[in-house]
Amino acid sequence: MTTPFPIAGLALTGPGLERSAERRTDALLLPTLLGDPATRVLAIRRGRLPIDATDRLRWRAPHPDDRDRLVVFLGTDGEHTAYVGVMEDPTESDRDEGWAGLRAVAATLPAAEGATAATLIALANWHATHSRCPRCGAPTEPVLAGWVRRCAEDGSDHFPRTDPAVIMAVTDADDRLLLARGSGFLAAGMSVLAGFVEPGETLAAAVAREVAEEVGVTVTEVEYVGDQPWPFPTGLMIGFRARARDTALRLRDGEIEAARWFTRAELDAALGEEGLRIPGRASIARRLIEDWYGAPLEAPDTMLRR
Ligand SMILES: [Zn+2]
Repeated sequence: MTTPFPIAGLALTGPGLERSAERRTDALLLPTLLGDPATRVLAIRRGRLPIDATDRLRWRAPHPDDRDRLVVFLGTDGEHTAYVGVMEDPTESDRDEGWAGLRAVAATLPAAEGATAATLIALANWHATHSRCPRCGAPTEPVLAGWVRRCAEDGSDHFPRTDPAVIMAVTDADDRLLLARGSGFLAAGMSVLAGFVEPGETLAAAVAREVAEEVGVTVTEVEYVGDQPWPFPTGLMIGFRARARDTALRLRDGEIEAARWFTRAELDAALGEEGLRIPGRASIARRLIEDWYGAPLEAPDTMLRR
């Protein structure tokens, strides 16, 4: 599958499994699949996934204990093999060896596995925080093969949430790129601006508002370039290019500690002797910077946040 957008082939974007959503309404789906040794199971423990020595996901067969666990139907492949995710509750004796957080392996997982892993992580994060009904406070139960939680009291259905955020490469009339240091970043870290979309707001309006709020710059020519599931905990990062009308920076107190316009030569120098850190290779933030730069950058994957 190809995409017409400038930023393609991002980590976690797949294509992954066929979701086969029409099967979720079958109440016997999960019991049947858990009784079939051909079913492939991806476990998750405390947000970590099982990873083998070649940086691939480690799938297993169903285990009798899975019947007592929270299970979600992930989909099928072209061979009719079914895939499920299982939320394991590790015991004290379970060790973290062979298990990794998605951030740590996002850049190295094959594209299809990354998309499946992102789906399971996002669903697990949502289940973990939605055990009660937002309408009446009664407990909710997973239904529709783990894709809905239903209130036991009033029967209301609650769906997995995805939180859209815009992330944008802002350039000026001289094609310099704007990078900023958020308040939670390490002193050497900078990235493109980003922020959550607010209710009642279009994506383009969110781009313009965030840039104006954070650095006091007005933007035009807002252009969608690609997007990426970012399940930390339930995000979707929607990437844009935007052009600044002016270059004077007025930093938002408490949110932005520094911001600066970079030419390509200045970015080279900053990444070299100045020790600037930019987001890791798995992120759309990195790809937006490289899209502007015109080539992949050598900068290592390091933590940006304190
Ligand atoms: Zn309720």
